[in-house]
Amino acid sequence: MAEFDYDVLVIGAGPGGYVAAIRAAQLGLRTACAEGRETLGGTCLNVGCIPSKALLHASELFEAAEGGALARLGIKTGKVALDLPQMMADKAEAVKGLTGGIEFLFKKNKVDWLKGLAKFTGPNTVDVGGKAVTAKDIVIATGSSVTPLPGVEVDNDKGIVIDSTGALAIDKVPGHMVVIGGGVIGLELGSVWRRLGAKVTVVEFLDQILPGMDGDVRKEAAKLFKKQGFDIRTSTKVTGVTVKGKQATLTMEPAAGGDAETLTTDAVLVSIGRRPNTEGLGLDAIDLATNERGQVETDEEFRTSVAGVWAIGDVIPGPMLAHKAEDEGIAVAENIAGETGIVNHAVIPSVVYTMPEIAAVGLTEEEAKERGEVKVGKFPMMANSRAKTNHETDGFVKVVADAKTDRVLGVHIIASVAGTMIAQAAQAMEFGATSEDIAYTCHAHPTHSEAVKEAAMAVTGKPIHI
Ligand code: FAD
Ligand code: NAD
Repeated sequence: MAEFDYDVLVIGAGPGGYVAAIRAAQLGLRTACAEGRETLGGTCLNVGCIPSKALLHASELFEAAEGGALARLGIKTGKVALDLPQMMADKAEAVKGLTGGIEFLFKKNKVDWLKGLAKFTGPNTVDVGGKAVTAKDIVIATGSSVTPLPGVEVDNDKGIVIDSTGALAIDKVPGHMVVIGGGVIGLELGSVWRRLGAKVTVVEFLDQILPGMDGDVRKEAAKLFKKQGFDIRTSTKVTGVTVKGKQATLTMEPAAGGDAETLTTDAVLVSIGRRPNTEGLGLDAIDLATNERGQVETDEEFRTSVAGVWAIGDVIPGPMLAHKAEDEGIAVAENIAGETGIVNHAVIPSVVYTMPEIAAVGLTEEEAKERGEVKVGKFPMMANSRAKTNHETDGFVKVVADAKTDRVLGVHIIASVAGTMIAQAAQAMEFGATSEDIAYTCHAHPTHSEAVKEAAMAVTGKPIHI
């Protein structure tokens, strides 16, 4: 009889966990994946990436039809009306299809889905929904949850003070929504409800929105979002929210201190970040401590300090992104199987799916300058023929390269399809490209991606179309 029930037990079936489980099974390991949720796919498929992108897509089309962008192209629509229940039903169908798809992949790859919350009870032993399960290697892929804001109680059922999950399921367009936190979630979900008719105010603690992004991008993004009608209040902190009837009143004050003011609104979206899920996981039972941010630390092979216990995804340090979790899922399974699983954390693209999209990979100009001399090339989407034809002229591409070696250190894009354009930049960086390599790569015409080539040409001062 085998010493353990499984070779590998993965805790959590998000993009990190389900990918790790599938790859482990592909590598011939007897694998199970424990999940506390009713469906597979984690935050991303159930209440994150997928439903938010479904609503972003639908609301973008609604705005194009209602706001006259289609009429400008000669497409008559008649009177445009919003059928919110149908939009939500379509979103639910996308989620169902994709979470069901993971279930199919588990069956196909012979991964056992163990239903219930998992908790370590000792080395190699986990309780899953009341049943003891043993495994030689255990992967923690428990993801993250919304960071609460002291003084602000989220109640998604009431639908007035909500988090991202609540904002994906509002049943009536609010007249006014206040978003606390000018980060990715606030701007994406704020965009959804603004396009569907809400007035949206963003309250951000810092002096600029989108922390961590390139300085030029942050400035340009704020300008564009204001042009779209967002009311953005930076350097402001929310100290409390009270709910009375169907309205919420926020108390806010300058981040640096000063007089408080109040703002009454129909909906408040709390989106000030996410924190790792380790509560109730029984880490004490295996003597595994978390760091000061509550994350599980690992080495670059995703081993924790406890033998046979590994961790990946949002629960470990690094950007909280689905594709980062997925790549770590593949790598950890390969490492457990005795192969060499690697993730290049220096080249992880990130995308904000607003309109225009905002995408980045590598170092910001500010970060690159801290490490040495840089050359920067910039190209406006206004000068890109395809963007101009499509009336998508907002934004630019910026390439940051090492001044001496010309190696590309970072690429930053604001453009309607920046999320697609960033892939070539990531691949170029993964291959150690110089800006000249990109500049001399033939790009199809007319495409938005030509702006990446022109920005690379601009690094040496030789773009053609500006
Ligand atoms: P998760 O997806 O959080 O999965 C962890 C799973 O573990 C969960 O299903 C949870 O139920 C389960 N679990 C936790 N504890 C236990 C336990 N003790 N026992 C059993 N199961 C447990 N990222 C992108 O890259 N692109 C996007 O467009 C994007 N959009 C997003 C939009 C929103 C609104 C949100 C909230 C997030 C978004 N993200 C996006 C982030 C992305 O969802 C996460 O980075 C990703 O889901 C992390 O994957 P994970 O596998 O580490 O964890
Ligand atoms: P975030 O870290 O992107 O933004 C949070 C914002 O809230 C920051 O700008 C921060 O300065 C601000 N803030 C913090 N405390 C505040 C306060 N008290 N008052 C006002 N502002 C405050 O976090 P998020 O938007 O909640 O997203 C969480 C995570 O989910 C992110 O790490 C992101 O990686 C991931 N996510 C990714 C995508 C994507 O890839 N497109 C989409 C959604 C979420």
